[in-house]
Amino acid sequence: MADYLISGGTGYVPEDGLSAQQLFSIGDGLTYNDFLILPGFIDFTSDEVDLTSALTRKITLKTPLISSPMDTVTESAMAIAMALMGGIGIIHHNCTPEFQANEVRKVKVLRFEQGFITDPVVMSPRQTVGDVFEAKVRHGFSGIPVTETGKMGSKLVGIVTSRDIDFLSEKDRGKPLEEAMTKREELVVAPAGVTLKEANDILQRSKKGKLPIVNNNDELVAIIARTDLKKNRDYPLASKDSRKQLLCGAAIGTREDDKYRLDLLVQAGVDVVVLDSSQGNSVYQINMINYIKQKYPELQVVGGNVVTAAQAKNLIDAGVDALRVGMGCGSICITQEVMACGRPQGTSVYKVAEYARRFGVPVIADGGIQTVGHVVKALSLGASTVMMGSLLAATTEAPGEYFFSDGVRLKKYRGMGSLDAMEKSTSSQKRYFSEGDNVKVAQGVSGSVQDKGSIHKFVPYLIAGIQHGCQDIGAKSLSVLRSMMYSGELKFEKRTMSAQVEGGVHGLHSYEKRLY
Ligand code: GDP
Ligand code: GDP
Ligand code: 5GP
Repeated sequence: MADYLISGGTGYVPEDGLSAQQLFSIGDGLTYNDFLILPGFIDFTSDEVDLTSALTRKITLKTPLISSPMDTVTESAMAIAMALMGGIGIIHHNCTPEFQANEVRKVKVLRFEQGFITDPVVMSPRQTVGDVFEAKVRHGFSGIPVTETGKMGSKLVGIVTSRDIDFLSEKDRGKPLEEAMTKREELVVAPAGVTLKEANDILQRSKKGKLPIVNNNDELVAIIARTDLKKNRDYPLASKDSRKQLLCGAAIGTREDDKYRLDLLVQAGVDVVVLDSSQGNSVYQINMINYIKQKYPELQVVGGNVVTAAQAKNLIDAGVDALRVGMGCGSICITQEVMACGRPQGTSVYKVAEYARRFGVPVIADGGIQTVGHVVKALSLGASTVMMGSLLAATTEAPGEYFFSDGVRLKKYRGMGSLDAMEKSTSSQKRYFSEGDNVKVAQGVSGSVQDKGSIHKFVPYLIAGIQHGCQDIGAKSLSVLRSMMYSGELKFEKRTMSAQVEGGVHGLHSYEKRLY
């Protein structure tokens, strides 16, 4: 193999380490613990690392993290927190369709607008207080700029906000806005072309809730809401749809009655559905993908789970927008033990991602993530995003109550193929193809996980950890990381058992492991 030049000047260094292709051509199934990534060259700070990555063909996330559709991991509180942090949550389906759709609705009703509103609701001075009451009911806000014609691009003559109508009653409905509004002479406005930062400063100084933006002719071109600047400051990475609502996913099965569940989820505004099956390469899943693509062509569909290119091919041919990868690698999972099927997760992710990328289909590495290093490894093997169960369980936002055992604060965490979960409803039985069986075969266990505090603290730790990992590798973004891997520039090395021992804490009498 040819030597290559590192950075000019002093000469050549011999080739070192294995490309991903070489690593996986050996034929052993590898887990995340079986290999390491060799460090690269750093010429940027870790907070500059861009973690933007594709969730599906059409949805991009700023944080490549997904909470798993499990009944001890993702309901609305988790999905809201994950979306605010730039990831996404997938609401589980071990519940009635109505309950699940309502959890989706709770995520979607949170409006998350930001920046300039260029098509705000505008009224004319001759419209009435009653019109503002109606706008409040219909749209949920009452901060309304008033222009000569009642349209954008017309001269600004005033503004009416909640404080102007708070104490008005039914008998004032007919009052024209010119009598209720604050008039143009008194308004603080900003000129067209103002930056968000400048607008923020003006809003801070004026202490008002809205800032109208006008052009040289004093015609209204946009407004800015203080609430949006605040949300934007607090959650700059938030995952939003085109209507600025938080993104939300939901899992469904592949049987006839899941079509009703699907309809309810779509009505609630779900952005992506995950076809939840432990072995996704089935005629049921292919039929369901065809059905969804025909009925809801805009809805993003994640197929899976798969661990081989052959499985992936069928689902890609059927039209999936992303693939969920992993079989038997989850922390609560006993599939490999019971079914004899599955694959070590490192190999699964590399093999499926390497195939799926030719068709522009992103891969979700699902399960087996125990540390932030595992997230970096999954992404460096071609996964676009990572799905987690146990790592996010026992956070404040996970469903369920904390309890104490031997003085340790815990929350329950269970596999969706555990007898415990399957006894709750038939949805989980379907995931494991066992709803009609007389004898239930468990594919998961039920256990507990130690309290991790809030997602709002934990996910920033994961984000910073991934950024540090990418920095050590010398990749300034996840797309650079992937192209380094596929070009062979990214080097890996297998770890022997003793290397794995060396890589962990060792030789201490005792220690405390605090991560963040
Ligand atoms: P208000 O004081 O009652 O107007 O409400 P807030 O300013 O607290 O919140 C209004 C929310 O609705 C913000 O997130 C806005 O970005 C959003 N919004 C979307 N379209 C419009 C619009 O046409 N006018 C106003 N005022 N807000 C809008
Ligand atoms: P609210 O808290 O949602 O009612 O909204 P604001 O803080 O924007 O408005 C509070 C009051 O100030 C209302 O009577 C508005 O009409 C008025 N107001 C809004 N913008 C301005 C402004 O730029 N200058 C002045 N003097 N009053 C304003
Ligand atoms: P973790 O992040 O805890 O390692 O793995 C979570 C993943 O395990 C889930 O996203 C899901 O794909 C998978 N999973 C959840 N419940 C079960 C189960 O009971 N059995 C198996 N085989 N896998 C499960």
